Amino acid sequence: MHVLPQRCYFSSSGPSRGHVRPAIRCLASTSAARRPAPTSIDDPSLQSTWSHRAWLTSGCATIAVTLGKSALAAVASSSSSGVVEPGVMVAGLAGYFLADLGSGVYHWGIDNYGNASTPVFGSQIEAFQGHHKWPWTITRRQVANNLHALARAVAFSLLPFDLLCEDATVLCFAASFAGFIMMSQQFHSWAHSTKSRLPPIIVALQDAGVLVSRAQHAAHHRPPYNNNYCIVSGAWNRFLDENRVFEVLEMAIYFRYGVRPRSWSEPGSDWTEEGPEEEKRSLSPQVVAQAQAHVTMSQ
Ligand SMILES: [Zn+2]
Ligand SMILES: [Zn+2]
Repeated sequence: MHVLPQRCYFSSSGPSRGHVRPAIRCLASTSAARRPAPTSIDDPSLQSTWSHRAWLTSGCATIAVTLGKSALAAVASSSSSGVVEPGVMVAGLAGYFLADLGSGVYHWGIDNYGNASTPVFGSQIEAFQGHHKWPWTITRRQVANNLHALARAVAFSLLPFDLLCEDATVLCFAASFAGFIMMSQQFHSWAHSTKSRLPPIIVALQDAGVLVSRAQHAAHHRPPYNNNYCIVSGAWNRFLDENRVFEVLEMAIYFRYGVRPRSWSEPGSDWTEEGPEEEKRSLSPQVVAQAQAHVTMSQ
């Protein structure tokens, strides 16, 4: 039997969205980041450092080497057999498709569990919690500042493939998966931009569903704050939300370890956006309406 800690209570309103989660609400199971919001584009926390640029360069270099090795291995095998293996191209597409799922699982995990002092993931958890309070700042963040943490993980993860693997299909999958995971934070940034600030090609890719759309990601930043976690293409979001995959995982973790995700908290200071009204109004009424439709469809 689980004993509710102080500050938690049984909600009379029942499970939110009619879902299976227990009607327990925790007022402050974990607190959001309390660092102050960046106030201008010149804020040092939004600027890239040489360390950020070095990690981004390392991430890009390892992806390029992995892709290069894949191409060389594919050419070598096709010249010996006379045919180019379609499996290499399929592996590249699979990497893109599964990177979207991976981005959702990772985003769900750091949105809901741990805090700034969590080993390894603490800074990412703090950054994503801060992102929910000041989402507009991601569009002001310089590229290397935004991508360096994932680029560092990519550099270390791909290095063994670069050194040890000679299989064209495996290398192509690894490079594609890692590359799209690294770029997911850039796609995320574009999803927060207004249409008028984005190059037409990015808007076209968002509208085509190749990159996560502004409307779909806007739904993630609106109540009940527990859906649309995927940020590469967003292709997995409907499946994950309609089948309540993350809620099942949250229930399993709660009943196994007694740990509540942050998304079970009453919508409050941990999730709600703070900042200048002109920034909160940066989304057009059409995008807000589409975001509400995404939430409604997944209910
Ligand atoms: Zn989030
Ligand atoms: Zn966001």
